[in-house]
Amino acid sequence: MTPPTTAAPVPDAYPLGSYKIHPPEDLADRIELVRKQLGDRLMILGHHYQQDQVIAHADLRGDSYQLSQMAAESTACESIVFCGVHFMAETADILANRPEKLAQRDGRRVTVVLPDMAAGCSMADMAAINQVEAAWADMGEVIDTRRVIPVTYINSAASLKAFCGRNGGIVCTSSNAAAVLRWAFERGDRVFFFPDQHLGRNTALAMGMGVEQMPVWDPYALELGGNTEQALNDSRVILWKGHCSVHQMFRPEHVAQFRGKYPGIQILVHPECPREVNDIADVSGSTGKIIQTVRNSPPGTKWAIGTELHLVNRLKAEHPEQEIHFLSPVLCMCATMYRIDLPHLCWSLENLRDGHPVNIIEVDPEVARWSLVALERMLSVK
Ligand code: SF4
Repeated sequence: MTPPTTAAPVPDAYPLGSYKIHPPEDLADRIELVRKQLGDRLMILGHHYQQDQVIAHADLRGDSYQLSQMAAESTACESIVFCGVHFMAETADILANRPEKLAQRDGRRVTVVLPDMAAGCSMADMAAINQVEAAWADMGEVIDTRRVIPVTYINSAASLKAFCGRNGGIVCTSSNAAAVLRWAFERGDRVFFFPDQHLGRNTALAMGMGVEQMPVWDPYALELGGNTEQALNDSRVILWKGHCSVHQMFRPEHVAQFRGKYPGIQILVHPECPREVNDIADVSGSTGKIIQTVRNSPPGTKWAIGTELHLVNRLKAEHPEQEIHFLSPVLCMCATMYRIDLPHLCWSLENLRDGHPVNIIEVDPEVARWSLVALERMLSVK
């Protein structure tokens, strides 16, 4: 296998269509064969929300930042196949190919592959860099943006992370959002938080800020994101009008239904859920916290969990000693991540093994440089 050094298009020797007609068992065997042949040179990363038949082939399972960091630490790894969504593969490329890592490998890049380029993120797609830059310029007519710290959730395009890097801002995850906001308020008067309004609002509310201090910036509004000058002047956190299409589906009435039907049940949700759900849950936390909370609970504990369906089903299978329910009558799953299936995984792996990798994710060097600045600021936050 010869990793490429540029993002130039490479010939697609094996067409994807031919993989779709094979039975899953054959594809699983072929995937395992590639894993065996490439050994430590290949790392398959599986996000917690990924479907089981794909997760079965992952070397590492975790959330997006954990996975990227773990893969970047490997010295043997030459290629990463990220079974997640586009922004996750970008973060893996930025971390695995940062300058000191390249120097350690004599300039050799780690090839990062996303098995299906259509595996995007609805939330990340709600904030395009041109919209964020236009909003920054518009709010600068009313408030002093030198005192505004931009904060992007890690679930965002690399271009937004780079925007934060260039403008004194920072990246956050769902597990460190409060610490990152504290960091930001040590350096500015306000925060511009994107793309997830719910994580921003839930975190700021828990820190004691009032909802009236959190205007929502609608990139499609005609003026000032749909806000008055007064609202911007009174703001502490300006929230981007974005959300996760999966976590947005959980509703307060679902909480009421479960509490009515299962006395003693506890509600455990991700902070990407709307405020009305987050406020009445028993526990709210990142994917890592959700997993740990269930692991640390005694047998017989009853849970209704508000996060992505595949993760909840996996927790259910791994913890038969507890009673775990999915907190919605609707199947809330990450449809874009679900696009990565066995045919796409096998197709991308065999093309990689045979020297003509497909779907390479390589972030523009300038964007990667500034993204890294914002990511490293996050790492400095304790
Ligand atoms: S679950 Fe939501 S935030 Fe996460 S990748 Fe899917 S759409 Fe994006």
